Amino acid sequence: MSTPSQSMANLSLNAPLNGLAHARLPAWTLPADWPQQNGEPVLADIHFSQGLITLLTPSQASNKHLWNLGGALVLPGLIEPHAHLDKTFTLTRSRPQGPGLLAAIEAMHQDRQHWTPQDLRQRALRGLTWAAAHGVTHLRTHIDWFDPTPPVAWHEMAALAPTGLTLERVALAPLTLFTDVNSADAIARAVAQSGDSCLLGGFIHSSNWNPSAMANLMESAARWRLNLDLHIDEELSERANGLVWLADYLSRHDFPGHICCSHGCALASGSEQQAQQVLAELAKHRVTLIALPMTNLLLQDAVVGRTPRQRGITRLKEAQTAGIPTLLGCDNVQDAFCPAGSYDPLDTLSCALFSAQLNQVFDQQSRLICDLGALTGAKAQSSPLNAGSAANLVIFPGSDSVTWPLNSAARRVISHGKLTYQRMWNQEFTHES
Ligand SMILES: [Zn+2]
Repeated sequence: MSTPSQSMANLSLNAPLNGLAHARLPAWTLPADWPQQNGEPVLADIHFSQGLITLLTPSQASNKHLWNLGGALVLPGLIEPHAHLDKTFTLTRSRPQGPGLLAAIEAMHQDRQHWTPQDLRQRALRGLTWAAAHGVTHLRTHIDWFDPTPPVAWHEMAALAPTGLTLERVALAPLTLFTDVNSADAIARAVAQSGDSCLLGGFIHSSNWNPSAMANLMESAARWRLNLDLHIDEELSERANGLVWLADYLSRHDFPGHICCSHGCALASGSEQQAQQVLAELAKHRVTLIALPMTNLLLQDAVVGRTPRQRGITRLKEAQTAGIPTLLGCDNVQDAFCPAGSYDPLDTLSCALFSAQLNQVFDQQSRLICDLGALTGAKAQSSPLNAGSAANLVIFPGSDSVTWPLNSAARRVISHGKLTYQRMWNQEFTHES
């Protein structure tokens, strides 16, 4: 079908592409009037110029100069909204003494003695490289702060991202560091002075709950015009107060920035009525909810020798029904908090498919690992594939909308109109070469 200049056989890495023909895109990326066939969107042609998408149309006969994908699934560039690059790949030297979140935190503090600049860089780069090869174009990492001054990792992570990947840093400080007004202000000021890609965060849990520290956190973020990404209510305790407090605070105060709430597990264990009230208030303020299914399944309701009874995952479907932007993140990878992990958002989505019983995984819920606007709070675009958007796309050769995201490790990654990574299982895909 394709001309020699854009055939799969002679595509070389980093050669500019004219575009893609016969791409199967998910319904959520397409206009409402996009034609359908057999209940699925018809295939698409995507034209590129100078690293940008210039045109998106149903497939046409005049597409011979584009790379013919033969109906392969395609997504916009993936995002990883919640990682911990400072802790990653420390498992072999830092195993927790018991199950659950608090034992993992204790093991992390033991491991900190090894966090030299070289150790941090080497581990973080490995995670970033894995993510980029899976098709991630935007990664947000939380970085632990242990006092009001930025830790070594904060500085070391600043310039590590490989070409084509945007890296955001969140200052993850325990709520106790916000108890003192001056300390809260010092943290927020340091984050604000670290650049646009930095956010204020916090670890908010019933074990350190303090409403006046929460007020200091919110006020210091507002003063320094910072967006927030909070580790909040990562527990199933009915004593978890974070989201209830935040919803009440937002109903009474203006907050100028965008807020992401990560975890929110306790929302799943409280009353229906309270959860609905909290979600309604968060929706009004366009708060984004980020679920972390892998670590929640591992660390919530974790007791030695006993099968967990609860899933630990926030009310994802209820949040979507309430109009709250939602995302899925990997959280910890190969450390005391989570012994497994791959920096592949498809693995996270596969986990959520079963644990949260997701429907329409490719056509609708793939948005959970692609929606950059939900992460940053940027004004909602109708689609990341509109003309003028960066030509960042991920191709899944050999998969289909029923199989995906399982058995979909083979991948071709396009960054700004160029093929940058590819991983193929040659034996299975010889019909393509
Ligand atoms: Zn986390």
